[in-house]
Amino acid sequence: MAQNNQTQRIAFLGLGNMGGPMAMNLVKAGYLVTAFDLSASALEKVREYGVGTATSAHQAVEGADVVISMLPASRHVELLYLGSGDEPSLLAAMREGTLVIDCSTIAPASAQKVARAAEAHGLAMIDAPVSGGTAGATAGTLTFIVGGNPAALERARDVLNAMGKNIFHMGAAGAGQVAKLCNNMALGVIMAVTGEAIALGVAHGLDPKALSLMMAVSTGRSWATEVCNPWPGVLENAPASRGYSGGFGNDLMLKDLGLAAEAAMAIGSPIPLGELARNLYAMNRHAGRGELDFSSVVKLLANSQ
Ligand code: NAD
Repeated sequence: MAQNNQTQRIAFLGLGNMGGPMAMNLVKAGYLVTAFDLSASALEKVREYGVGTATSAHQAVEGADVVISMLPASRHVELLYLGSGDEPSLLAAMREGTLVIDCSTIAPASAQKVARAAEAHGLAMIDAPVSGGTAGATAGTLTFIVGGNPAALERARDVLNAMGKNIFHMGAAGAGQVAKLCNNMALGVIMAVTGEAIALGVAHGLDPKALSLMMAVSTGRSWATEVCNPWPGVLENAPASRGYSGGFGNDLMLKDLGLAAEAAMAIGSPIPLGELARNLYAMNRHAGRGELDFSSVVKLLANSQ
């Protein structure tokens, strides 16, 4: 496998918490990876693992067969690929036929806009946001939630398999982003209500661990009760048990719920619980917990911790 992969040159743009380990997994699978990030320390970190580095995104994509991006938000993706006054478009710098895979979580409308521009430049593009967090990025077990042309996905499959273990094709360009937002909206609501339920039980004198164990095998079970329980001390490996560090940031959840709200408004869909959850995570940010794991939202609902 490593031998075959070496014939494919990959440019990787955005080496943060997710992109860094993803690029390293591509190198492990035998791909030739040239990466770029605006942060010098992010570049330094991946260099140790055999990832080649470039001095600009334009230099990174020179001669690449596949370009992968893992950037914070819509504006970064649009600016990079489409350019603006001073910034030249990266799409224009790629050779015809290059496959572009954007793994960032962004607005479906932005994904569609960039995909249309890519097509106009003779490039194939898919949106492939991920689920699985930093642990999944490191272990190479991410889930890719894909939108775009099925033929482009087939071309991307081996590369995605080197970074993840599940691939779901949800439909045309932007559909991966819509599906990702639906999943994260459900997650945001479930986490908040799980925290609320445990807080209610504790206020009535219940042991949070006993309550969570019962819920984890009952109808209130979810990822929030079983894997990322929001109450400190219930699950040893959950962010709640290490001061809410090292998980999925409150502000990233807030961003995703904002994108869900935009997507709902665009077509007049009601999302009453999603909007309520968005406000809870905004309140949690205002309480100074924007950088902490999103399960810290439980602190708004309980005063005994
Ligand atoms: P991050 O902030 O850690 O990393 C983003 C990186 O992009 C930074 O290193 C930044 O310097 C770089 N960057 C920004 N603009 C750039 C440009 N023009 N060229 C090159 N590099 C540029 O973010 P992250 O946690 O890695 O998340 C990336 C994306 O993945 C986000 O859209 C996020 O919502 C999504 N996501 C994150 C998680 C998670 O658990 N962290 C889980 C699923 C999805």
